[in-house]
Amino acid sequence: MNLKKVKYLIYALGAACMLMIILLGVTESMVFLWLALAFVVAGIAVNLALWRCPHCGGHLGRDVSQYCTHCGKKLDDLV
Ligand SMILES: [Zn+2]
Repeated sequence: MNLKKVKYLIYALGAACMLMIILLGVTESMVFLWLALAFVVAGIAVNLALWRCPHCGGHLGRDVSQYCTHCGKKLDDLV
């Protein structure tokens, strides 16, 4: 899986979490609270496990540019 797919996966999990919170507000069903928490945990797990530099394995963090902040190599498959 390349970084672009990982980025979209993290966004999708975040969007799913937002949707669950909206559904929680509309329905007031606690099921959606647990689903929202599950998506948060999944998003964090994917971030920690896969959101890494393909060259050095360093975690990319929040401010991602074209270059890795750890080894300085170009992140080709990010864009
Ligand atoms: Zn790196």
